[in-house]
Amino acid sequence: MLDLMICHCPRTIEPRLAYEMALQENPANAPQTPGTRRKRSVAYFDKFWAPGRTLRISFTNEPEPSLKDAVFNAACQWLPYVNLDFVLVDDDFDSEIKIHTGGSPLVNYSVFGTDALTSAGASMVLGVTPDMDDFERTVIHEFGHALGAEHEHQHPAADIPWDIPKVYAHYAVKGHSKEVVDEAVLSKVVGASIRKTPYDRHSIMHYPVPQELTLGDWEIGVNDRISDKDKAFMRLAYPR
Ligand SMILES: [Zn+2]
Repeated sequence: MLDLMICHCPRTIEPRLAYEMALQENPANAPQTPGTRRKRSVAYFDKFWAPGRTLRISFTNEPEPSLKDAVFNAACQWLPYVNLDFVLVDDDFDSEIKIHTGGSPLVNYSVFGTDALTSAGASMVLGVTPDMDDFERTVIHEFGHALGAEHEHQHPAADIPWDIPKVYAHYAVKGHSKEVVDEAVLSKVVGASIRKTPYDRHSIMHYPVPQELTLGDWEIGVNDRISDKDKAFMRLAYPR
């Protein structure tokens, strides 16, 4: 079976600050669906960067230039579909996306979009290296989060017949608790975005779903490229 990685993206610890930063960055992040705005809740808002912006990317631990270039090149695969630009900079303090590399190849995650503005340290962690088969798709996936995209397998309309005890057991072997599996794999994301596109089993933001972890005849292989619906989603989030 596929060796499944988990991308446990931290939710911001300061939701009020995250909300204020998201709206300051891009007013279109405000809750837009009538009836979903609740005075005491800021749960339902987007975290997209301001269209037209240049996002500065830095590395917190000075990796080899070849690793920087490989990460940057993979990230840039999003650029044709977003009204954004990326630039590599040296200084952590002057960057929006701060990447830490060099950890376990199994540990890869990013905060969501403008949550990076509230990150004290790295906003993205990349353990993969360019010699790995998973490198490019992992970097693209994590940059999808950095641009504000959620997991597609957690789309409200995803109807994956998970064999839940087997899913927990699979990830438990790798040291992941039920809570982490619930948060990053099994739960549905109740997104606010009226821009949300339909469920897409081909999305780069979708985990592989091995046959062994589902009930009946159901599986999804490795999605290793940006899908047509991923492109449509990003074009709506970052209009020109
Ligand atoms: Zn992810």
